Amino acid sequence: MEISPDHPRYRSLVIRERMSDLVKEGVVAPTGLIAHGRGEAFDYLLGERTTDNALLAERTAAAYLLEARHPVITVNGNAAGLCAEGLLSLARAVPAKVEVNLFHRSPERVERVVSYLERVGGQEVLGRVQSSRLEGIASDRAMCCTEGIYEADVVLIPLEDGDRAGALVRAGKKVLAIDLNPLSRTSLESHVAVVDELTRAVPNIERAVKELRDDVPERRRLIAEFDNVLNLRLSRKHMCQLLEGEMR
Ligand code: ATP
Ligand code: MG
Repeated sequence: MEISPDHPRYRSLVIRERMSDLVKEGVVAPTGLIAHGRGEAFDYLLGERTTDNALLAERTAAAYLLEARHPVITVNGNAAGLCAEGLLSLARAVPAKVEVNLFHRSPERVERVVSYLERVGGQEVLGRVQSSRLEGIASDRAMCCTEGIYEADVVLIPLEDGDRAGALVRAGKKVLAIDLNPLSRTSLESHVAVVDELTRAVPNIERAVKELRDDVPERRRLIAEFDNVLNLRLSRKHMCQLLEGEMR
């Protein structure tokens, strides 16, 4: 489909087309399009920009990634479709491992998403062989790589489902979520919830990784002072103010 760059929602339309093409390639699941639409709606309520409190969460997430012994970034079909390059670039900057974990899991789809990421990033991506299990999830979604998520102390989970976010927290990991919905179980359960659009959040986190690389005291201060409950309240307040017409 031809989309005119003059269209006021050009970017959103281009991304929708790309996501729909990636469904045909088997990278994005059909229901992933519905999750994407929910994300777009929440982004509307944020004014489609990074708020100050989201930026603080992004800097804190960067601090956690740098302080980690074994950081892992999990990638599902939507995250790969929207932001493969950015996520792989962030993984190189930290450095962190990348592991594919799908909600709608089949060996064929795992292979498609892993090889898609390897093509884009040219680096090793985990997920083909998952022989460990996270406690507290009955389905196949409990599977993870022993040398990836299973051994991780800090996990960045873009667009994760609430069940897995909770299971990762109960497994003793520090969980950093990127999720536009400040009410989701994922946002509520994680240690740091970044309420921002994935393609804005990931470059912001990478920039903060570079800024904080040699600043250990600032990293520790960010981690010690971050309050996820308060930060989520600020995201909801921002959305309410926009709805009330008090902003923009
Ligand atoms: P939970 O399982 O955490 O309670 P949910 O079931 O409501 O949440 P899921 O479908 O599991 O939601 O996860 C999709 C989440 O990803 C939604 O909260 C949606 O707002 C968010 N999301 C979708 N697209 C983006 C995006 N581009 N950037 C950031 N978040 C997004
Ligand atoms: Mg869910």
